[in-house]
Amino acid sequence: MATKVEDVHIIWIVEGLGCEGDTIAVTAATQPSIEDVVLGAIPGLPRVHIHNKCIAYEWGKDFMDWWYKAERGELDPFVLVFEGSVPNEKIKSEGYWAALGVDATTGQPIPVSDWIDRLAPKALAVVAIGTCATYGGIHAMQGNPTGAMGVADYLGWDWKSRAGIPIVNVPGCPVQPDNFMETLLYLLYQVAGMAPMIPLDEEGRPTWLFGKTVHEGCDRGSYYEQGMFASEYGSPQCLVKLGCWGPVVNCNVPKRGWMAGIGGCPNVGGICIGCTMPGFPDKFMPFMDEPPGAKLSTSVVSIWGGALRGLRKITNDTVNKEPSWRHKGRQLTTGYPPPWQ
Ligand code: SF4
Ligand code: SF4
Repeated sequence: MATKVEDVHIIWIVEGLGCEGDTIAVTAATQPSIEDVVLGAIPGLPRVHIHNKCIAYEWGKDFMDWWYKAERGELDPFVLVFEGSVPNEKIKSEGYWAALGVDATTGQPIPVSDWIDRLAPKALAVVAIGTCATYGGIHAMQGNPTGAMGVADYLGWDWKSRAGIPIVNVPGCPVQPDNFMETLLYLLYQVAGMAPMIPLDEEGRPTWLFGKTVHEGCDRGSYYEQGMFASEYGSPQCLVKLGCWGPVVNCNVPKRGWMAGIGGCPNVGGICIGCTMPGFPDKFMPFMDEPPGAKLSTSVVSIWGGALRGLRKITNDTVNKEPSWRHKGRQLTTGYPPPWQ
């Protein structure tokens, strides 16, 4: 990959089927922040220009010009970020589900799937932000009318950019802000020739961010281990009986927190509903029911956990007492043989 890239453009399509929650979430990032990246506060990075309608200074034609420049190959290199799910425009004879800009020759809106066709072949990397863009998310539920899907479902799971980079998926509903900015930072270092190929798992997620389960990073893990399960909200104990899917969900949010290290679903009382997973939401519904297998696992853990709590109580009582040789008086009882006696 080239090592003398001076400018990189981020072409960020927000108009997929979604709520724009990922863009809004990313404005809270701190590791790094958008400001750090675009103002050149991070050593070694090329100059970065982010084009996203929610944070852009330009509007109308001036804003859309960046998209046409990218299409004509005049923005090189650029990273294509896609937000929201991709509706299937082929399942109907007229109209459109989601569009961005107007075609100058036909006067018709340009569907976002056309923009993927136009820009993906020219992009250095394609990043899907949020669960709608990565796997389809809520819009792709059973019974949906749009045939919505994720970017990799649309382009193909084997698709690679002209730089040989597979589609990078950063899921979450919405995305955890720093997870996205850290991934973008990694790609920018890769563009600058300062990082090897980004490591991704089979679902296209950065491995260092999604390699562990929610449960493995949860503040309530010790309650689970000791068989102490909450039966109502407001309890500090493990939330599995209230519907937490944490033991089988890949997500670092309890470890990382949400903003500036604060928050993180189960840590602050919310069950994990598996929002980073390809099977979300259908495979996790109905929310707030005990997940399958939880009855068996919590019954087993309750027996073991009860015994463990009893033993730990004994040890805890012991270590809560000071050793007996710390006292006043004329006798030394520490075990040291005093030569002066
Ligand atoms: S609240 Fe969820 S993630 Fe946390 S320990 Fe319980 S089951 Fe695991
Ligand atoms: S902890 Fe669960 S619900 Fe919360 S962000 Fe992670 S996957 Fe989504």
